[in-house]
Amino acid sequence: IINWCPRCETALSDDEVDYEELESYLWYIKYPIKNKKNEFVVVATTRPETMLGDTAVAVNPNDKRYKHLIGEKVIIPLVEREVPIISDDYVDKEFGTGCVKVTPAHDPNDFKIGLRHNLEQVLIMDEKAVMNRNAGIDYEGMNRFECREKVVEDLKERKLLEKVEKYSHSIGHCYRCHTVIEPYLSNQWFVKMKPLAKKAIEVVKEGKIKFQPPRWEKVYYNWMENIRDWCISRQIWWGHRIPAYYCDNCGKMFVAKQAPDKCTECNGNKFTQDPDVLDTWFSSWLWPFSTMGWPERAKELDYFYPTDLLVTAPGIIFFWVARMIMASMEFVGKIPFKTVFLHGMVLDEQMRKMEKSLGNSPDPIDVIEKFGADALRFSMVFNTPKGNDVVYTDSLVETGRNFANKIWNAARFAITNSENIAGMPEPENMKIDLADRWILHRLHTVIYDVSKAYDEYRFNDAAHILYNFFWNEYCAWYLEIIKDRFYHSDDISIKRTAKYLMLKVLDYSARMLHPIMPFITEEIWQRIQKFCSDSTAESIMQVSFPVADKEQLFPEDARKMELIIKVITAIRGIRKDMNVPLREKVETVIKVVKGGKRLILQDNRHYIKIMAKVSDIYIGDDVVKPSKSATAVVDDVEIYMPLAGIIDLEKERDRLLKKLSKVESNLNNCVKKLNNKDFVNNAPQSVVQEERERKENLEITSEKLKANIAFLE
Ligand SMILES: [Zn+2]
Ligand SMILES: [Zn+2]
Repeated sequence: IINWCPRCETALSDDEVDYEELESYLWYIKYPIKNKKNEFVVVATTRPETMLGDTAVAVNPNDKRYKHLIGEKVIIPLVEREVPIISDDYVDKEFGTGCVKVTPAHDPNDFKIGLRHNLEQVLIMDEKAVMNRNAGIDYEGMNRFECREKVVEDLKERKLLEKVEKYSHSIGHCYRCHTVIEPYLSNQWFVKMKPLAKKAIEVVKEGKIKFQPPRWEKVYYNWMENIRDWCISRQIWWGHRIPAYYCDNCGKMFVAKQAPDKCTECNGNKFTQDPDVLDTWFSSWLWPFSTMGWPERAKELDYFYPTDLLVTAPGIIFFWVARMIMASMEFVGKIPFKTVFLHGMVLDEQMRKMEKSLGNSPDPIDVIEKFGADALRFSMVFNTPKGNDVVYTDSLVETGRNFANKIWNAARFAITNSENIAGMPEPENMKIDLADRWILHRLHTVIYDVSKAYDEYRFNDAAHILYNFFWNEYCAWYLEIIKDRFYHSDDISIKRTAKYLMLKVLDYSARMLHPIMPFITEEIWQRIQKFCSDSTAESIMQVSFPVADKEQLFPEDARKMELIIKVITAIRGIRKDMNVPLREKVETVIKVVKGGKRLILQDNRHYIKIMAKVSDIYIGDDVVKPSKSATAVVDDVEIYMPLAGIIDLEKERDRLLKKLSKVESNLNNCVKKLNNKDFVNNAPQSVVQEERERKENLEITSEKLKANIAFLE
């Protein structure tokens, strides 16, 4: 018995059947007992039309209700066939009436019962699931669903339908065309899987093959340990033909590469090849080694086999991955690959898989035209946690496009300045400052983290680390800091050192980003080669991946630089809050009690001056807050910015007061809403939560505005 798709007119393997829980009915049918007037057994079925092919009724041998009937005969209504009542352990006493109809040609379990009891196999449908002569002339020519209706009607008429119950059960559908599968008796080729599975389970248990993410190993074991024989013949046109030949004269079968010269049975010399073809996966399971010249003992096989990594979707673990492992163990005697990486799927906004038949996939070429190939690739990696699915929207790709623009602008800045500054620093003339040690420390930390993420197949982590480093540290801070050196320094060694480090970080970042953004990184690498390398490589693909160097880690300096960055950020925050234009140079007074921190800020005041656009800066442990100054606090560092003479204090105060009254009125509404029990109890939980968060944010803003207004009084 195989799974038969009446539309595709082919057999399917168990894995090609999609099961779906559907509402249906359970029909209870009365079968008259032979020679006993008005005595019946009642059977329950979800497919009443199959009764036309029944060749027995079975009960459990321990079922006291029916013990006395074993060996009696019943008459199958409509076809009026006389069949025995048999006993079989398979029958579940609790299901339906405890009596089951047995249709060996149309049900896999009935087929097995049939073999045990030597029952006749009556096939009642043809390949299109149209009823044939065996179904009786009343039903011949109907499709199975028409026949079902007619059978039920006829049973009703004869008062042989006891009852009908609603019943939901899982129904198999063809994975290709979604037609309801018909279990069908037919001659097919099978592969015995248990012995193959045994070795394939072992190599995973022994850790020779690893699954990523590892949770898939359980899924693999579960399938392999319950594996069933594989139906490999298909009644379709395309595929490898089954290498079986039948003697035209006597019918003897030969399985061989080619038809034999002579029949060993009758000496006949005419043969016909089996018309069936192999399941496409039967060809595919040979893929890892057949692509390397197998069955010849090819060089490629010796050199590359087993391969390192197989990347594929979880949907074909059984169809393909497990079978490749089995085939490789059987035919080559080696594992086919060391690691299987199972990635997520791209879903549409309704969380559906993207499929040709649904037409719910954007055309990748359109997306690439609009955003760029690197933008698409980066965005997909950036937004897909290891092994998880990702919901695609066009806006997702904007992240990648913006990042690509950022990288391109940074590269242009680097190239222009590299052209303006001749030469590279001699090692003995390098002038390395705190910010340089900080960026080196960050670069090598990032190299370490990114390498680890790639090694562990956490590609989205690699993308996030690189994105944050390049955008928020290299571009936002380091390039801004060295810009001042390029434009204002007279010391060529300082300029060359900055040029060297700027190019180094750009070069290494490009190499690390290359797997995720291949085009832009190649382009940039080509353009910066003339400044920073005497390598003979012709492509970024030929240079080595950066290696983290402990000698380049400066944790102490990194901490210092981070403090300075925080202070600069705080000063910028005051400027923004108090509406102080950037062109307006301001003074800043910093109170810091701890000597260590004070020293750091004093030594590096030039960074604060450049990056926060501060004209003068006083740092001390006993400074007094100047009047009419704004304040910010970073850890235990207090920052004051005197505002008198910088901005129109009255005007600024009015602006802030207006803003405050608006915030207060919003806050009032918010509080009212949250005090309203109807709202809190009836609105969706997420909406109420949102309102609470809004209230908190408004409170914070209000406090801040009040403090800023106080600065001006
Ligand atoms: Zn089909
Ligand atoms: Zn023969």
